[in-house]
Amino acid sequence: MRNTLVVANWKMQKTVAEALAFAEAFLARFPQRSGQALLPGADAAPEVAVAAPFTALYALGRALQGTPVALAAQNVHPQAQGAFTGEVAPGMLAELGCRYAIVGHSERRNLFDERSDFVAEKAAALLQHGIDPIVCVGESVDQRGAGRTLTVIREQVAGSLAKAPSAAAQRLVVAYEPVWAIGAGVSATPEQAQEVHAAIRACLQERFGAADSEKIRILYGGSVKADNVSALVAQPDIDGALVGGASLQADGFAELVLRSGDCS
Ligand code: PEP
Repeated sequence: MRNTLVVANWKMQKTVAEALAFAEAFLARFPQRSGQALLPGADAAPEVAVAAPFTALYALGRALQGTPVALAAQNVHPQAQGAFTGEVAPGMLAELGCRYAIVGHSERRNLFDERSDFVAEKAAALLQHGIDPIVCVGESVDQRGAGRTLTVIREQVAGSLAKAPSAAAQRLVVAYEPVWAIGAGVSATPEQAQEVHAAIRACLQERFGAADSEKIRILYGGSVKADNVSALVAQPDIDGALVGGASLQADGFAELVLRSGDCS
């Protein structure tokens, strides 16, 4: 019912030349792809997006044109234009062909002090510009240790989606990324992740109703690799993955994408 989505998050990595080399090598792993799908005749073929640094978006967008791999940004400013030195507006990303943009990643929440109300503005602005937001939420190790995981997640989901209009609910993507699993080499277990994903689905149901909430994809992120992705995505409320470190090498990421389809 929900098509699996696998998103590469390159963070502050890859020059234009490196991004283009990745695109060529990655696409070469799917010689039977069409404009719509990486694998032939497969409804089950996962959808793939690559969230590149701003500097690589233009060139990468051109390289991915006509392929089934979508272009994504890693951040956005909610205003359409203005005196915001160093920021990038949603219309600028739309012009480059971005289909998705990540907002509220824990690195932005923790290193740049971004709060859920600001994330909510970004998500709403993206929706207005035809870009689907990938809204990240996740608890810290201390919050988990204190038994506050579901409370924190519910607050982040409610706050970060507060300005998303119901009419656009189906375009939302939520990514659960426990902060303690990001870049740690050890992911949440499928059961730990499913518990939180089910709680997120319940929040979405409260906010948008049963029909729409069933269509919203909830990705898991945090040390996803080729050898753990299928067990994670086999869980009923895990609809794909947001992948950092394991998305940097084209061959390894292609393998991860292939294995994410193993359970569909
Ligand atoms: C991320 O930061 O979005 C992420 C999931 O990183 P990693 O896969 O490296 O844990």
